[in-house]
Formats: sequence, C-alpha cells, structure tokens
Amino acid sequence: MSKVEDFLTTVEESQIIEAIKTAEKNTSGEIRVHLETSSDGSPIERAKELFGLLKMNETKDQNGVLFYVAVDDRQFAVLGDVGIDKVVSGDFWNSIKNKVINRFLEGNYTLGLQEGILETGKKLQEYFPYESNDIDELPNDISLG
Ligand code: CA
Ligand code: CA
Repeated sequence: MSKVEDFLTTVEESQIIEAIKTAEKNTSGEIRVHLETSSDGSPIERAKELFGLLKMNETKDQNGVLFYVAVDDRQFAVLGDVGIDKVVSGDFWNSIKNKVINRFLEGNYTLGLQEGILETGKKLQEYFPYESNDIDELPNDISLG
C-alpha cells in the first residue's frame, strides 16, 4: 500500500531534484522524473506515452531523458529522446536501468534515482555540453501521475 505521494519523503524529493539540477549544470539535456501508482502494462510503453504528454519530445536538441517509476508495481523505465538515443551505445539505457533497479531491490529508491540521474548527466555532457546561454526547457521537479 504505497500512495504515490508517500513514496518519497520531502527530503528525498529534494535530494532527487538536487540531482537533476546537478546533472543539468553539465549538460543542455533535460532530465525529468515521473512517479505514478501503476503503469497498467509495460513500464517502457507507459514512459513513451508520458514522454509526449509531458512534452519531453519538444526540446531543441531532442535530448530529454525521463526516469519513470510505477510505485506500487516497483517498476522502472528510463527513456531518452532520439537525439541522445542515436549517440549513446546500445546498452547505455539498459546499464542505467539495471543499476537503478538493483538499488530499488535493496529498498534504496532515492539513491537509485540519484545515481541514475547523475550518471545520465555525465553521459549527456559528452554529447550535449552545458552552454552559458542554456535554457531550462523542462522543469526540474518530480511530476506525479
Ligand atoms: Ca537545458
Ligand atoms: Ca530541466
């Protein structure tokens, strides 16, 4: 019985938001986290749907990344837009996903998301470095479904 609002404490939420901000200091890429109760099916398919709903497919360089958690299902998916997807190696997303899920299995949800976000930020930095005129195209908050 975990309501989506109770999944993270206020402190944990702010730790995740800090990780997003830190990651985005190094890259023009945009990272978001979305939590909801259940994905009603495949988490990656739901992440794809949310990507459009959250307008994450509208960044200039197509470099948005969504971290998606279905709280009750303990399911996780990470999805990058086509601009990133075509430059990172084929197993990059799987590697992130496995690391985050391993943390989840230990019960360390916040740490898993923090590490996944920071590692994604470092990877994005290689291809989409931060520029002084960067626009924060997508809010750095956690959206709840
Ligand atoms: Ca940006
Ligand atoms: Ca942002």
